[in-house]
This record gives sequence, structure tokens and C-alpha cells, in this order.
Amino acid sequence: MMIPFNQPPVTGDEPYYMQKAIENGKLSGDGPFTKECQTWMEKVFHCPKAYLTPSCTHALEMAAMLAGIQPGDEVIMPSYTFVSTANAFVLQGAVIVFVDIRPDTMNIDETQIESAITEKTKAIVPVHYAGVACDMDTILSIAARYKLKVIEDAAQGVMSTYKGQALGTLGDYGCYSFHDTKNYTSGEGGALLLKDKAAQEQAEIIREKGTNRSKFLRGQVDKYTWVDVGSSYLPGELNAAYLYAQFQHADAINNARLKAWNTYYEELRSLEETKDIELPVVPSGCEHNAHMFYIKTQNIEERTALVEWLKKDEIMPAFHYVPLHSSEAGRKFSRFHGKDRFTTQESERLLRLPMYYGLNQENIKETTKRIRSFYKC
Ligand SMILES: *Cc1c(COP(=O)(O)O)cnc(C)c1O
Repeated sequence: MMIPFNQPPVTGDEPYYMQKAIENGKLSGDGPFTKECQTWMEKVFHCPKAYLTPSCTHALEMAAMLAGIQPGDEVIMPSYTFVSTANAFVLQGAVIVFVDIRPDTMNIDETQIESAITEKTKAIVPVHYAGVACDMDTILSIAARYKLKVIEDAAQGVMSTYKGQALGTLGDYGCYSFHDTKNYTSGEGGALLLKDKAAQEQAEIIREKGTNRSKFLRGQVDKYTWVDVGSSYLPGELNAAYLYAQFQHADAINNARLKAWNTYYEELRSLEETKDIELPVVPSGCEHNAHMFYIKTQNIEERTALVEWLKKDEIMPAFHYVPLHSSEAGRKFSRFHGKDRFTTQESERLLRLPMYYGLNQENIKETTKRIRSFYKC
């Protein structure tokens, strides 16, 4: 039987809430289910304000606008990330300054950030890879010293914490993804989290096509009009209703993923002891959400051979992120500060194993057995 790389999570309650949304007679943005999802996030993640968006890409774009990024401003981030992390800032005319990652977590190397700062630097964008937090204490203290904004790309970090605080709530702005490939989904979807409620008014204007419609709906102004630059960053109610069903099962989904992650770890531990592969590292203070389980092979040739070996048994692993600085657009819009010691090398060794809600113990044991047989262990 085929073991796919990913299956979008389904709890069974989605049609019930979607039917309710239809009965509510309002399918456009900011209806009851959107509000329920936002309130749920604000409560569970202890964050002053959360907005659903049509994607994490859009949440990042809103954050770039809220951070006041202007043409020529510089934004520091890792090169080992999804394109949207960089693209959202390039849309505002920013120059992207990439720095290297740490080989243990694949997160931005916090010790490389300070020397990348120039007079033009406006923001730092930590990406919490695999739902494992960056070294936020160091990043936040650098940002405070140089008066830089911190935008967390927490697309993969929903339900993860750093020293007890939810990822996405530590920086000025936090961005979540509810894409099909993430832990909780609405097909396409995302959220923007604000640390400071003072940014709320501007966020609402940006999200509502540059109008003060949100204020109007609260009865704070008697007519609504165009007040600033904006776009349409609201998802429809059907998507929110779908997501709401998943939020109701958030702990069950998280626990099932962690169980799968732990089984992978136990089953592959012997291969790490023999130094055939490396397993993921979760630093102390970080509670992760089992967004992914990856291993590292010796090099790209071995990874290619292992992928073929697994696919012969219809087990579908995956790898990703051509480092952005070496991409076509990356060469146009960015520079790499310092040395690329780990970004390229580690990205070529990393292999993601099947991971989704509903992946069972037999699937995992079949996969790990097949990996052990590749290494003749
Ligand atoms: C998935 C992902 C995104 C993009 O999320 P969308 O909701 O698809 O826009 C951005 N950054 C990272 C790190 C991601 O994993």
C-alpha cells in the first residue's frame, strides 16, 4: 500500500460547520466563523489580536506593510525557506539579506545576524523550521538594540512554543499557514498575529482594501471610505468554518503527530548511533508540533539513492527549498551576507519522511524498516 508524503488533516466535523456557515447566510469575510477562529487563536496562543488571512503569504505581505518596509530597505532572513518569506518584502521594494542557518535546527544562525545589519536594515524574519523555534531571546535582543521589527514566519509553527510562549506571538508580527500541507488547514489559509494592539487599526485598513470598514462595522464611524493603501486579505466564511472544525480538535491532531514523530525517532535511533544518518534536534526550551520528521543522509548522492529505494516500496519522501540566494529571483533581489557554510550543504542532505494526521504506527514502522534495510542495519 502506498504511503503518501502528505494528506491534509480531516476531522470529520468540517461539513457540519460549513453547513452552519451556509445557514448563517453570509459567506464573505469577517463573519461569525472568522471571528470564532480569531478568538480561539487569541485565547489559546495568548495573543492580543489575530486575523485570518487567505494564506501565510498574505499574512507576510500584511506584516511587511505594517512594518513600513520601503524601497531599498534591507530585511534579514535565512535563505533556506519558502519563497513567500522573501517575496512578501520584495513586493515592498526591499533588498533581502540572507544569512546562514544552523545545521542542528536548520533555523537562522542568530550569531550571523548582527554583522549583517546596516543603516538600511529594517527587519529580521526568523523562520521556525519544522515548528522548532529559532533562538528568539538572542534575535529579540538584537532587534531591540537596533530598533528593528521582528516578523516571525511561523507557517510551520502553529501550536509550538518557545519557553512557554506560542510561536508567532514573540515578534512584532507572527504569520501562520493553514495550507493543505500544514498541521491545520482550510485548503488555503493563514493568520496574522499582532503583538501590539496599537497596530490593529492599520492592520484592519490594510486587510479591508484600504478602507475603514472595520471601524464602520463596530459603529465607530458613520460611513466608510478609502483611507490608506490596502488590499483584500480576508478569507471567506466557508474556509473559516472548515478551519474552525480543525481548531476544535487541535490537541488531538497535535498529540497524534507527536506520537508519530516519537515513533520515527525511536525506530531510527540505532541508525544515528551507527552514524549512518542524523536525526532532528529540538533545543531545550522548544516544544514543537511535529510539523515534519526529517533525517539527514551523508550527501546528496546518498539521498537520491534512498529516495529511489523508498519509492520502489511506494513510500513517498520529499525534500525542499533550493536555497533562495541561488534561485533566479534570489540573484536579482538579494545578497548573501557571510559564508554559506550550511545552507546549501545541509539542504542537500535533508529528507522529509511521510508525516500527516492519520499516519499510523504500521506506516511508520514499514518506512523505518525500509530505511534500515537501505543501510543494511
Ligand atoms: C507553507 C509556508 C509558507 C507559505 O504558506 P501559504 O499559506 O501557502 O502562503 C511560508 N513560509 C513557510 C516557512 C512555509 O512553510
